[in-house]
Amino acid sequence: MTGLCRSGKTAYPDEGTAEEALGAIRAENERMAPGRREPTRTYECDHCADWHLTSKPARRRRAL
Ligand SMILES: [Zn+2]
Repeated sequence: MTGLCRSGKTAYPDEGTAEEALGAIRAENERMAPGRREPTRTYECDHCADWHLTSKPARRRRAL
């Protein structure tokens, strides 16, 4: 399943694709817009079961 999630974010069909897109966005921002907020990780969506990018830190179950 690909396309638009109701979250409005771009959806990627699997983690590998999302990681690839994340890398491309980060590389481009580094050249074009340093310091801009950018996605930092991928996550599997609860709504559409696709993958999205987010700049929010991962929630940890417990502090290490
Ligand atoms: Zn989604």
